Amino acid sequence: GLDVAFVRNVTDIDDKILTKSAEHGRPWWEWAATHERAFTRAYDLLGVTPPSIEPRATGHIPEMIAYIQRIIDNGLAYATEDGSVYCRTAKVPQYGFLSHQKLDELDQGEDAAPGKEDPRDFAMWKAAKPGEPGWDTPWGYGRPGWHIECSAMSRKYLGEAFDIHAGGMDLQFPHHENEAAQAHAAGDDFATLWLHNGWVTMSGEKMSKSLGNVLSVPNVLTLVRPIELRYYLGSAHYRSMLEYSEDALQEAAAGFRRIEKFLGRAVELAGEVPVTEWLPAFEECLDNDLAVPQALAVIHEAVRDGNKALDAGNRDEVVRLAGEVRAMMGVLGVDPLSETWAGADSRGRGQGIGAAEGSDDALAALDVLVTAELEQRAEAKASKDYATADAVRDRLKAAGISVVDSAAGATWSLG
Ligand SMILES: [Zn+2]
Repeated sequence: GLDVAFVRNVTDIDDKILTKSAEHGRPWWEWAATHERAFTRAYDLLGVTPPSIEPRATGHIPEMIAYIQRIIDNGLAYATEDGSVYCRTAKVPQYGFLSHQKLDELDQGEDAAPGKEDPRDFAMWKAAKPGEPGWDTPWGYGRPGWHIECSAMSRKYLGEAFDIHAGGMDLQFPHHENEAAQAHAAGDDFATLWLHNGWVTMSGEKMSKSLGNVLSVPNVLTLVRPIELRYYLGSAHYRSMLEYSEDALQEAAAGFRRIEKFLGRAVELAGEVPVTEWLPAFEECLDNDLAVPQALAVIHEAVRDGNKALDAGNRDEVVRLAGEVRAMMGVLGVDPLSETWAGADSRGRGQGIGAAEGSDDALAALDVLVTAELEQRAEAKASKDYATADAVRDRLKAAGISVVDSAAGATWSLG
C-alpha cells in the first residue's frame, strides 16, 4: 500500500569499464551500453519490477560537480594540482558508522597519489589520464570517482534523506560508507535504513567472469522456465549466500511446479480462482526480516491442504485456499496465474522453454506448434465451437502437454 519511488542508477563510466573496453578494442560507451541492455533483458525475463527511474552516471555530471563543490565549500574535500578531488575522510562526521571500520586501520584500496593529504582520503573526482574520457570542471579535466554519482543522484531524485538504500554485501565498504560520507560531508542525512544482500555462489566463490564460473540468466533459462528461476533465486533468505547447483535449481523448480499444479487443478475445478488475502502466518514471516524460506513453507502447507480439499471434492475450500496461495505467490512475484506470467509460454515472453528437459531449440519449436494449437482453440471457443476446442485440448493432453486457462490466456507445460 505504500507509494514507492525506486531509483536504480547505472554506472556507465568507471575504471573497470575503461579497462575492459580497451582490452576488447571497443569504445567505453558501447561497452557500458551493451552490458546495460543485457542486464535489463535478464531482469525483464525474471519479471523484476523496473525502477521508477534508472539514471546514468554520465547524464549527471553537472549534479556531481555541484555536489563536490558543496563538500569543498564545507572544508571536507580538496582539489589537488592535477585536478583530482579527495574527501577528508577522517574529518567527516560519523565516518565508519556503516561498516565499522576503524579510522586508524582504514584502507580505501586506492593508490597513493600526488597531493593526497592523508592516505585514508578517497577520490571523489579523478583527473583524466591521457586518452581517457573526461569532462571540464572547476578543478580540471577528469571523470567521476566510484562513489560520487550515487550521492549526487540520490540527492537529485530522492532528496536529502530517503528511506532505504540497498545493495550487495560486498558494496558496504568502501562504496556505501563513502557514499554516505559524501552526503554527510555535504550536510545531507542520506539513507535511514540499509539493506545488504548476499549473492549466488558456485563452490563457495562469488560468481565472476575471471573465475570462469559465470551462470548467465539466458544460460540457466535453458534448464528451467523464468518463473522457476525467479522462485529459486528468491527462495534463499536475502542475507544468505545461495550456493548454486543444478540439483538445487531443479529441486526448487519441482517445488514451484507443485504449487502451479495445485492452482491448475483448482482452475480446472472452479473455472477461475480470484486472488484473495494472504495468510497472517505468511505476513508474519515477511515482517520478520523478509524470512522468505519460512513464508514459502506457509504456502506449501496451504497447497497440501488444497490438494486434500481437491481429493475430497470440496470446491469452496479449494477456491479459498487457491485464492490465498495466489495472493502469497503474488507478493513474491511468482503467481503463475498473474498477468505477468499467465500466457508467458505461449506469448514467448523469453520462454518457449516449457520444461526442464530437452534442448532450447526443440522447446522453441514445440512452443511454436503448441501456440498454434492454442490459438486454434481460442478461436473455436470464441465462436462457441466447444467440440473443436475440447478436441484440441485432448490432442495436447495425449501428447503430454497440459494447458491451464486464466483470465490472461492459456499457458502450457510438459507433464
Ligand atoms: Zn552506489
